[in-house]
Amino acid sequence: MLDKVLIANRGEIALRILRACKELNIKTVAVHSKIDVALKHVKLADEAVCIGPNPSPQSYLNVPAIISAMEITGAEAVHPGYGFLAENADFAEQVENSGFTFIGPTAEVIRTMGDKVAAIKTMKAAGVPTVPGSDGPLSDDPQFLKNTALRIGYPVIIKAAAGGGGRGMRVVENEQTLLNAVSITKTEAAAAFGDGTVYMEKFLQNPRHVEVQVLSDGQGSAIHLGDRDCSLQRRHQKVIEEAPAPGIPEDARQAVFESCVKACIQINYRGAGTFEFLYEDGNYYFIEMNTRVQVEHPVSEMITGVDIIKEQLLIASGRPLSFKQENIIFRGHSFECRINAEDPVSFLPQPGTILAYHAPGGNGVRVDSHIYNGYSVPPNYDSLIGKVITYGRDRDSALSRMRNALDEMVIDGIKTNIELHENLVRDPEFKKGGVNIHYLEKKLGL
Ligand code: ADP
Repeated sequence: MLDKVLIANRGEIALRILRACKELNIKTVAVHSKIDVALKHVKLADEAVCIGPNPSPQSYLNVPAIISAMEITGAEAVHPGYGFLAENADFAEQVENSGFTFIGPTAEVIRTMGDKVAAIKTMKAAGVPTVPGSDGPLSDDPQFLKNTALRIGYPVIIKAAAGGGGRGMRVVENEQTLLNAVSITKTEAAAAFGDGTVYMEKFLQNPRHVEVQVLSDGQGSAIHLGDRDCSLQRRHQKVIEEAPAPGIPEDARQAVFESCVKACIQINYRGAGTFEFLYEDGNYYFIEMNTRVQVEHPVSEMITGVDIIKEQLLIASGRPLSFKQENIIFRGHSFECRINAEDPVSFLPQPGTILAYHAPGGNGVRVDSHIYNGYSVPPNYDSLIGKVITYGRDRDSALSRMRNALDEMVIDGIKTNIELHENLVRDPEFKKGGVNIHYLEKKLGL
């Protein structure tokens, strides 16, 4: 078992990782920027190291500072959380080359999945359903481009192979705008990601976002922890997630779960991962794989009883998976609302000091948050300040617990999106389940 783990992250996920380490009797090292000395996990960790000033390039993205902190404290392994360096193959490689353990897959797998063209090719070969598309990078040949789009059928979407965060893509409705769109997307991708490779896919009009959580030990065993529906999004940012994804025929779900597990074994995947799909008219279309733990992992934990972060730590310790697929029993339903320090109307971040905080509670309510009375939300980082997660025997009871939890929650001193969530969990279409990825923006009039 790992003896000491450095947590290369901040906020709620750093605290979440710290808690899992403590349960496994693993010693913890927190690294933080100057302003983050007040974070809860920094106070609770066995050791803490300030790795730089507030801007993340100089602290949470500062690879030499993080590796030095591992050397100084004698940490054996690093948990990257999500965001920051979590999907940075060069970081994973440097960690391993310095003789430490990166808690996640190999640098090679991270690199393949970070290149969407390579990821799609790998998944297609492993039998995972993908979006009809160019099956590779686009050349500049106008005839090739026109033929490819005709074969796929308009509308199509041009996407950057190195894209991320919902950037670097453009929808094309017809042949008149095709060539221009390809050339603009290439130029933009080269400028934004340092790689102008683009590919083409069928543009799905009204899909849902459905993803599959997997755990794989890199020793020949893999399991899935079911699916999550994360269709409620604004600007490609998830707002509310739930597990399981409602209203999908059971045979289609089981088939996609099996294909994900098979793919993990085929690529010898190590750690926790997520296969993201668009789901439309009964069909799944793979769009990308996230090679890390995700913000919304708790909803899968609630319906399976599996602690995903503990499993990551056990896998990184070299243990085989603690569970077989038949040991995973899916029970009930879970929702997660992401609580952000932001203006509920303009969505602008709202840093500032929390004057009063009352967390909700009761049966089936979980709050993953690092905030406390008097804590100041700094302006430098993501505006996520916590997650309210509820569990119920069925979807309705999990949702009514969420309504109560949000009504009970008090955060004074800064603006938050609690009000938006209170409205969303009462929305008649959302209550029915199965809204598509455009639903929230349409409701907000965007
Ligand atoms: P990123 O890595 O930037 O998040 P994704 O490939 O995951 O990129 O796509 C982000 C979002 O863009 C999807 O959740 C979906 O809303 C939209 N999108 C991507 N590909 C398609 C497609 N083929 N058809 C329709 N929408 C798409």
